[in-house]
Amino acid sequence: NFPSDVVPQAPEDPLFGLMAAFRADESPDKVDLGIGAYRDDNAKPWILPVVKKADEILRNDPDLNHEYAPIAGIQSFTSKAAELMLGADSPALKEKRSASIQTISGTGAVHLGALFLAKFFKGNRTVYVSNPTWANHHQIFSNVGIPTKQYPYFDKKTKGLDFEGMKNAIKDAPERSIILLHPCAHNPTGVDPTLDQWKELAEVIRSKNHFPFFDSAYQGFASGNLARDAASVRYFVEQGFELLIAQSFAKNFGLYGERAGCFHAVTAPGPDAQTTISRIASQLAILQRSEISNPPLYGARIVSLVLNDAKLFAEWEDNLTTMSGRIMDMRNSLRAKLEELGTPGTWNHITDQIGMFSFTGLTEEQVMRLRKESHIYMTKNGRISMAGLNTKNIDYFAKAVHAVVS
Ligand code: PLP
Repeated sequence: NFPSDVVPQAPEDPLFGLMAAFRADESPDKVDLGIGAYRDDNAKPWILPVVKKADEILRNDPDLNHEYAPIAGIQSFTSKAAELMLGADSPALKEKRSASIQTISGTGAVHLGALFLAKFFKGNRTVYVSNPTWANHHQIFSNVGIPTKQYPYFDKKTKGLDFEGMKNAIKDAPERSIILLHPCAHNPTGVDPTLDQWKELAEVIRSKNHFPFFDSAYQGFASGNLARDAASVRYFVEQGFELLIAQSFAKNFGLYGERAGCFHAVTAPGPDAQTTISRIASQLAILQRSEISNPPLYGARIVSLVLNDAKLFAEWEDNLTTMSGRIMDMRNSLRAKLEELGTPGTWNHITDQIGMFSFTGLTEEQVMRLRKESHIYMTKNGRISMAGLNTKNIDYFAKAVHAVVS
């Protein structure tokens, strides 16, 4: 039934393959800069103190049970997730023209959105993604029959944003295309548009009647400020766009494996907005039912507790600052060390870029040499997870980079 010409061997996921290679490496010096997960100064996973507290509260709650969550998820979670993304005073919330449904983290939210578009989107059924983007975007959309095309994003020369290229490609895309955008801390480049550039992009997107789909995986992780990291999405909503948002709590709560996420649909203002959103919500529930029936409880319960309690919320903001602050320290330190060593090239992009990742500009050959000679693991495109650096390995890393670049 399944000969190899029907079911060929699929390639291993490159990122998870990289993790396996790292684990198998027995060198005491090895450095993992591959996976996008926060690590503390000892290169260990960090359970946010506020998550520990919420967990304790949950464990001591005598009324808690393991019944199914509603199809759309825990309401106290989805409503606060929407507020967090859109802002408590968002016109979309005031006018009740948004729908929110709990998903299997950010991946599940992108998938649910893709599935919804595959079934109902009547424009140009192609999604434009940045070049490069989170690799999974390509497979999530193509799996539901929506092909991806790319718009330029990263300027190899400046190691910053190719804004003109991006804007022109979006302008040139056929009327009413789907445009996928990273609201902040772009993965894999760490390069974001400024707010003024977002405003220009909104104009272009409006002029072509394109349909924006925001994938938010790093709110609060980029600048450390939740509102600032959501400014792009909030601006588009204020401008009256109809749009979709995928929201992950994996990184900003350190709840990677718990799969806490949310999907939001916002309709344009107008007399029919509420009936439109109610129809959309009803279809999302049907899709959810056939995909996962009911979303998982634990992660959403933790997030809900924190988002609904002012004191815990303030603690969470503090924890976010700890993570984003440590990453910023590592950026400053790495740049300073490379400059001190006189490593050829410019290194300002290390501190200009933000969020979890940095696109170093290292070539594939240099990346492979770093792996072979120094046991340093990063993706072939030269992306490093800044969270993998710490005060103990940063000297070693800078020297190894210096050696392969010189
Ligand atoms: N979107 C982007 C851009 C990401 O970088 C990630 C994670 O790396 C995700 C979505 C989804 O992550 P998760 O499914 O773990 O929430």
